[in-house]
Amino acid sequence: RVILNAGSISKSYGATEVLKGISLEVHAGEVIALIGPSGAGKSTFLRCLNYLERPTSGGLTLDGEQVFKNPLNPSKHELVHLRRRVGMVFQSFNLFPHLSVLQNIVLAQTLNGKRSKKEAEEYAMKLLTQVGLPDKASAKPSQCSGGQQQRIAIARALALDPEIMLFDEPTSALDPEIADEVLTVMRDLAEIGMTMIVVTHEMRFAERVADRVLLLDRGCILEEGTPQHVFTNP
Ligand code: ADP
Ligand code: ADP
Repeated sequence: RVILNAGSISKSYGATEVLKGISLEVHAGEVIALIGPSGAGKSTFLRCLNYLERPTSGGLTLDGEQVFKNPLNPSKHELVHLRRRVGMVFQSFNLFPHLSVLQNIVLAQTLNGKRSKKEAEEYAMKLLTQVGLPDKASAKPSQCSGGQQQRIAIARALALDPEIMLFDEPTSALDPEIADEVLTVMRDLAEIGMTMIVVTHEMRFAERVADRVLLLDRGCILEEGTPQHVFTNP
């Protein structure tokens, strides 16, 4: 089942064409690694998938339905709907520093009107357990390590029950040994069937966890296939 279809996504900044018509079909449960040199357009493409960045042209469908009536003029309602279904985790964790870890995860849900406060707290605890941090519920983000903060950010994104999760270099701000604890949480998510698109320089993750690897270069897909195919093709 194709869950997300990105059709011929282009993005220009002024005269510079950063994405040159990239198309991607994402199947439910699939894990896609987006790799390529710095400046290739990986982050821009990922951000186009939830409209943090507005493509210059191209269209998105979710479950076969157009996300936007007019992709060049998305309505607020369409944007909210898209971002509810497509969650995102960034390189920087962006947790609210004055809220407890639990409240960071609760807030995402209550702002959204998704659950009552009590339900949101219970669900937040469940997610904190899932990422291995139930004992950090009442801590402040500043009392958590970088790896722990990123796992909390993942739990916060999951709190909205997204159907797809986008990760933009989730471990690039972390020391290698700390990165592993985040990659483990991501691998666990993949194993329980989450659909994921991951921009990463972690080739071991791309090789071992991804079903499909996309190599981007200068705004084009240079290579695409199974990890085995992409990594053995020079
Ligand atoms: P990657 O994630 O592969 O490193 P990016 O998507 O961040 O690449 O950037 C692709 C290109 O687009 C780069 O040349 C970058 O400088 C340019 N770019 C990204 N964002 C902007 C922007 N807001 N304005 C102008 N150029 C941008
Ligand atoms: P990354 O490659 O890790 O995404 P960058 O340092 O390329 O990070 O970009 C950081 C921010 O600056 C992003 O929001 C990006 O869109 C913006 N940016 C990148 N390149 C340019 C550029 N040439 N002009 C304006 N904004 C840019």
